[in-house]
Amino acid sequence: WTSPEALREKELHAHLNGSVSFETIEKLIGRKPHLNIEHGMTAIGKGQRRTLDECFQVFKVIHQLVDTEEDILMVAKDVIKEFAADGVKYLELRSTPREEKSTGLTKKRYIETVIKAIQLCKNEGVDIDVRFLVAIDRRNGTEVAVETVKLAEEFMLSSDGLVVGIDLSGDPTVGHGKDLLPALQMAKNCGLKLSLHLSEIQSQLEESDLLLDLPPDRIGHGTFLHPDVGGSQSVFDKVVKNNIPLELCLTSNVKGQTVACYSKHHFKYWYHLGHPSVICTDDKGVFCTDLSQEYQLAASTFGLSREAVWELSQQAIDCIFAPDAVKQQLKQKWIDLKPQVF
Ligand code: IMP
Repeated sequence: WTSPEALREKELHAHLNGSVSFETIEKLIGRKPHLNIEHGMTAIGKGQRRTLDECFQVFKVIHQLVDTEEDILMVAKDVIKEFAADGVKYLELRSTPREEKSTGLTKKRYIETVIKAIQLCKNEGVDIDVRFLVAIDRRNGTEVAVETVKLAEEFMLSSDGLVVGIDLSGDPTVGHGKDLLPALQMAKNCGLKLSLHLSEIQSQLEESDLLLDLPPDRIGHGTFLHPDVGGSQSVFDKVVKNNIPLELCLTSNVKGQTVACYSKHHFKYWYHLGHPSVICTDDKGVFCTDLSQEYQLAASTFGLSREAVWELSQQAIDCIFAPDAVKQQLKQKWIDLKPQVF
């Protein structure tokens, strides 16, 4: 089927610090040799699996390596350029603003630095439209969530349309969505789009039911929402009735062992329903993948034709958080590109 360059994908679910490539990790290790961090601690290679808990340990190691403005700027620029090199034309990056007392990094500077990286790439002529979702780490509770939304609102108004929404992520075994509901409602009220990690593990059904009443604009993973994999009729109906797109990350779910194998991935249920499903990488660095590879995996596992892959990629345009004018531009780009691909 179609070559990666011809696909011109959209990536809608990419955590900044999970997307750091081998080459960039090498540069970070060079900057901080005293940490004694090795590559095996920052990525999960081919054929390897980890528990979800072990995956979250990996993020902690990467966070040790990325703790200054300079690091964030380099990481964000590299990640953007790598997605562009993979043929991605529209990217929504997400990241949890961190404060690092030892380096003077503040949450505000963190967001400003990611925005600076996006602008620098634009000025350098990198052919990709990048937007930013400010992430709430669920383990940090109500107060931090509210503070994060306030910061995101500030940047939504001042970043020339680059900050478009909020992501809710973090270890699904920690914290409860009911504590974050006021912050998420606040975000929605001020016009920030919401992408929420929902039902990444089976025990989150009650939380998902609650958060689906917001409703979110997109769902991350949603592994256990479909009735065929243990979801309730109530959550299923809310997702379908509101036509909430799902961000599906095959390699991440298989390597993190929330899905037993590729052929059992919930993509198949939602795709066959005709429900908006967007193929994403989640953490391309940690899971050693890229978006082309994820499309290829979906195609080979579920027998998708070239035409079907093209449509999958094209339909993702309707799920992006950037304004309608950007959607129209992307749609036109796809119309122009089609003759080159088929
Ligand atoms: P950062 O927000 O740029 O630092 O990216 C890493 C963070 O993203 C992790 O610490 C988690 O909070 C979040 N994250 C990455 N992958 C996942 C996932 O699969 N589920 C939930 N949260 C995730």
